[in-house]
Amino acid sequence: MAEHKGSVGGIFLSKKRLVVLGSVNLDIVAHAPHLPRPGETVSGAALSRYPGGKGANQALAAKRLGADVSLCARTGQDADADAALALLKADGVDLSQCLALPNAQTGVALIIVDEKGENQITVASGANHSFQADPLHLPPHDALLCQLEVPIEVIRQASTKASGLFCLNAAPVKPVPPDILSRTDLLIVNESEAEALEENLRDYHGILAITLGARGAILQRDGAILARAAPPSVEAIDTVGAGDAFCAALVIAFLEGKGYQEAVEFACRVGAFATTRKGAQPAMPYRADLDSLFN
Ligand code: ADP
Repeated sequence: MAEHKGSVGGIFLSKKRLVVLGSVNLDIVAHAPHLPRPGETVSGAALSRYPGGKGANQALAAKRLGADVSLCARTGQDADADAALALLKADGVDLSQCLALPNAQTGVALIIVDEKGENQITVASGANHSFQADPLHLPPHDALLCQLEVPIEVIRQASTKASGLFCLNAAPVKPVPPDILSRTDLLIVNESEAEALEENLRDYHGILAITLGARGAILQRDGAILARAAPPSVEAIDTVGAGDAFCAALVIAFLEGKGYQEAVEFACRVGAFATTRKGAQPAMPYRADLDSLFN
């Protein structure tokens, strides 16, 4: 593999080996005529099953962009795990640290979507919730990317073992403990997460990336803007997974040594692409997709 040299936050990087630590879910989606009220049964739905979970989505996105990716996660020993990991396997994500726990079920998100695109989601976290901080083995890496869908103690342990860049996508939103924040080089949130964490982020001095949906994203540090970019104009048909695509792409861009402006532009293009296809994982682009669509 070609060697890339670059630096971010003063850390010099020589390769693009990424470990993503996070969740694996099977998304079971019922497309229904309308969302049920409490106690109501709605008939006439069509069912789809998609691999999901923020960890798995981000790992697949990073792999499709050309990184060496290992996913550190937990599933059950069940058929849902096979379905949830199918695309990761097909694309060659290293799953040696994706362990199947004997007494837990693979995480499942039950999603109902109505004809207007409104949804109701219930997540049974299962094995993601049973993820233990010990023992935790992280394959060699140049960056570690986590989200908040596994227990915070696992994130804490991982952050102490991270080499190179430690990147955190603070979603689903909850306060990030100060010791984890102090080890974070790159924190990625969307606009509403940024608002919810405003107090929490006062003492954060790393790079903060805030995504703004169709308006793109900004990078800042200690309140000063480092770069901002708008995505290319696309026909967005499904924004699920856009944030995950953005996170993976931004980390990969830094690993490749791109500067702030080029990195945020690249991440916005990848996020925009992910909105042009249905589902989260099937929508993640390969490099060639980006070239054909936007160049
Ligand atoms: P999240 O899904 O986490 O809330 P955002 O909605 O902010 O994240 O989207 C993440 C990124 O995906 C944005 O920064 C942008 O680059 C891209 N994106 C999202 N929605 C659109 C859209 N309608 N058109 C073009 N790009 C989009």
